[in-house]
Amino acid sequence: MFSGVLKKMYTEIDDEVKYYLDFKDHIINFNQCLEKKISLKFIGYQCLSCLEEVEVFRQGFCRKCFFNTPLAGEWIMKPEMSKAHLGIEDRNLEYEKKIQLQPHIVYFAISSHIKVGVTRKSQLITRWIDQGADRALAIFEFPNRYLAGTCEVILKKSFSDKTNWRKMLSSVSDQSLNFSEAEKFVDNNIEDNLKAYSLQPRIYKEINFPVIRYPDKINSLNLKKSLHYSGKLTGIKGQYLIFEDSTVFNIRGNEGLRVEIDIE
Ligand SMILES: [Zn+2]
Repeated sequence: MFSGVLKKMYTEIDDEVKYYLDFKDHIINFNQCLEKKISLKFIGYQCLSCLEEVEVFRQGFCRKCFFNTPLAGEWIMKPEMSKAHLGIEDRNLEYEKKIQLQPHIVYFAISSHIKVGVTRKSQLITRWIDQGADRALAIFEFPNRYLAGTCEVILKKSFSDKTNWRKMLSSVSDQSLNFSEAEKFVDNNIEDNLKAYSLQPRIYKEINFPVIRYPDKINSLNLKKSLHYSGKLTGIKGQYLIFEDSTVFNIRGNEGLRVEIDIE
């Protein structure tokens, strides 16, 4: 039996993505748990920032931390709101400079449909894995988060920045989907001052997830409510565990939950 606080799984790109859950005392490699019965039990909370055992509000943080920690500033979800390049502080300028003033990539990814996104260059593959992208194409590299955000705002007029997770978890994306429409949109709608940051060549990646069987009718596990769940693991995609009875469990969406995990 393993016990710890859920944090998003860390991953390694390989022929198939490798998934690890870090419980401090133990590291669980979920690829080795495929076809095994896994039991999950909710035992409490621990805020990822202040470490207090208080209810988690969002993104693994308690309410107080969510509204105060620099790790949950609004510019994280909305890169165009970044201001560190102007020397303007949101919550902690030193942290914001460190994160925002580094190379950022604007990309398209196919998980359920074509979506647009921004990520730090150092996080590129991790980001694509976390959202369950079967294929992805990096288009631009900007020197900071703000510029990447302004480019994304233009692309969002035609492309969603959200993943349809139900669709992402129900199959490998349609092979007929490709990036040509997105590339055409970039050519026609991005101005030269931003086009100057085009990647040459663009970076294309295909990602294989360890999924033995995709579920038929997805049922999302709310462990806080049900307190306990057991099922046979049949796949891992994005940050989700997929079980034989079509239950899925979003590890990232449950950060800050203290759980016990049994593997048989
Ligand atoms: Zn907290």
